[in-house]
Amino acid sequence: MTDCIFCKIANQEIPADLLYQDEHIVAFADIAPKAEKHLLVIPRRHIENLNDLTADDEALMGHLMLRLPEIAAAQKLTGFRTITNTGKEGGQEVFHMHFHILGGSELPGF
Ligand code: 5GP
Ligand code: ZN
Repeated sequence: MTDCIFCKIANQEIPADLLYQDEHIVAFADIAPKAEKHLLVIPRRHIENLNDLTADDEALMGHLMLRLPEIAAAQKLTGFRTITNTGKEGGQEVFHMHFHILGGSELPGF
C-alpha cells in the first residue's frame, strides 16, 4: 500500500529504528511509547488487521508469534505485554496489522 506509514517503515522509505527484520516481519520502536519499552512488530506485507487474515497467513502468523518473545528478549525484556488492536472500535489507529510489545517496568494487571 503506497500511503501506509508502516509499509513505508518496512520498506525503509521513512526512518525508524529497526530492531529486528527478516523476510516476513519487521520490529521497531513506537514513536510515542506508552511504556518504558514499546515496540511494534509488523508483517512486511500489508495486512489491515486480524480481521483481514486468511488461511494462507497461518505460517506467517506462527512465525510472527514465535519471534515476539525473541524480539522482546533481545531488548532485555523478561516479561512483557502483547497487544493488537483490531478495527477503529478496537482502538486501531494505523491500519497495518501490528503487535505492540510493552514492558521495561512491571505493568499493572488487566
Ligand atoms: P494502534 O492504536 O493502531 O494499535 O497503534 C498505532 C501505534 O503506532 C501507536 O502506538 C503510535 O504511537 C504508533 N505510530 C504511529 N505512527 C508512527 C510512526 O510514524 N512511527 C512509529 N515508529 N510509530 C508510529
Ligand atoms: Zn501497510
